Amino acid sequence: MFTAKNVLVINCGSSSLKFSLIEPNSGKTLVNGLAERLMTEQASITINNANEKNNLMLAAPFDHKIAIEQLVQILTEANLISQISAVGHRVVHGGEEYSQPTLINDDVKQTITNLSKLAPLHNPANLVGIEAAQQAFTTLPQVAIFDTAFHQTMPEKAFMYALPYELYQQESIRKYGFHGTSHFFVSQQAATLLSKPINQCSFISAHLGNGCSITAVKNGESVDSSMGFTPLEGIMMGTRSGSIDPGIIFYLVEQLNYSLSDVNQLLNKKSGLLGLSQLSNDCRTLEQTALASNDSKSRLAKLALDVFCYQIAKSIASFSASLTALDCLIFTGGIGENSSYVREQVLAQLSLLNFVIDVEQNNTIRLGASGNICKENSRPCLVVPTNEEWVIAEQTASLLQKIS
Ligand code: ADP
Repeated sequence: MFTAKNVLVINCGSSSLKFSLIEPNSGKTLVNGLAERLMTEQASITINNANEKNNLMLAAPFDHKIAIEQLVQILTEANLISQISAVGHRVVHGGEEYSQPTLINDDVKQTITNLSKLAPLHNPANLVGIEAAQQAFTTLPQVAIFDTAFHQTMPEKAFMYALPYELYQQESIRKYGFHGTSHFFVSQQAATLLSKPINQCSFISAHLGNGCSITAVKNGESVDSSMGFTPLEGIMMGTRSGSIDPGIIFYLVEQLNYSLSDVNQLLNKKSGLLGLSQLSNDCRTLEQTALASNDSKSRLAKLALDVFCYQIAKSIASFSASLTALDCLIFTGGIGENSSYVREQVLAQLSLLNFVIDVEQNNTIRLGASGNICKENSRPCLVVPTNEEWVIAEQTASLLQKIS
């Protein structure tokens, strides 16, 4: 019988590895940290353990395996290693194959590999994390939690593109949606805050971080989401353009001689808040610059924020077509949880949906707080801090309990 002690949660990127040791029932984080600049000689690992923060340089070959070995050593010294009962991995793309948490075996790893063509930057990095953790924790079960899984309930009319049908049949080109773990978590939290069963709740959830996505949740299930075949679709983000006229790509290639790799860089890394403002992808920097003075720098910072807030409001309004009721709007992610400015600008453009902001509440509910930022006679708008790591720990433990 599996007993859930603590779950080690791993979120592996191509040059970074985030980890948290979490008690799955309470969500209590015992240790967390980040290995970054992996695959370079500057590779280092930062670990937060009981109010103590340590930063160590990693040894050659500066890879994910070394990072996990260093983590194992630290957890051993802190007498925590025997307290770990499983490893939960964030995996970005589960395609149509995975709509549930999944125990990792060789077949699952092969499927994640096959799905790499849909997520070439993310799935291979997630697999590196899985392999490194399997080598370090040979006896522990490992579970994959997919970022796309929550959106597998989307109906066909929401996930199909108006492209020749065979591109869906033969190449799996369709909308998948991302940030599923976050939209799932904040929906559950919002239902609790509203004291209503989740299967009777309908929400529009706005996850606004470096990546941004909006999701329509009907009776607790995702029915549409703004990110699509890749995380590039939808509203503009920190450095991603979001949806643009695909004709712009032909123009860039045919008239300006961009290569496909240039277009990829432009749309994923040089656009969004950064590209428009010509200053920063960081919302805080833009707010400070926009409010500080009246020069051309502040004008562009304000323009970037204006376009951002307008696109968020338009996307939220469009998702009302996916729902028959709307219990509340949810803001989450670094910007959604903290930026009173963005929240106010967005809600000001949604008065047709009966949102009336409570300015004082909006200025107060930040920095980890949750609650309603609208007036009593308004439709509620809840700020809910996300906690994807807790979902991964909780779903990992639940799956293992179910199958043991
Ligand atoms: P990621 O998607 O990488 O997890 P986060 O969810 O942490 O990112 O969100 C990062 C964004 O949140 C940045 O644009 C940052 O400026 C913004 N942010 C964080 N704190 C604040 C704040 N107090 N006010 C405005 N924006 C904030």
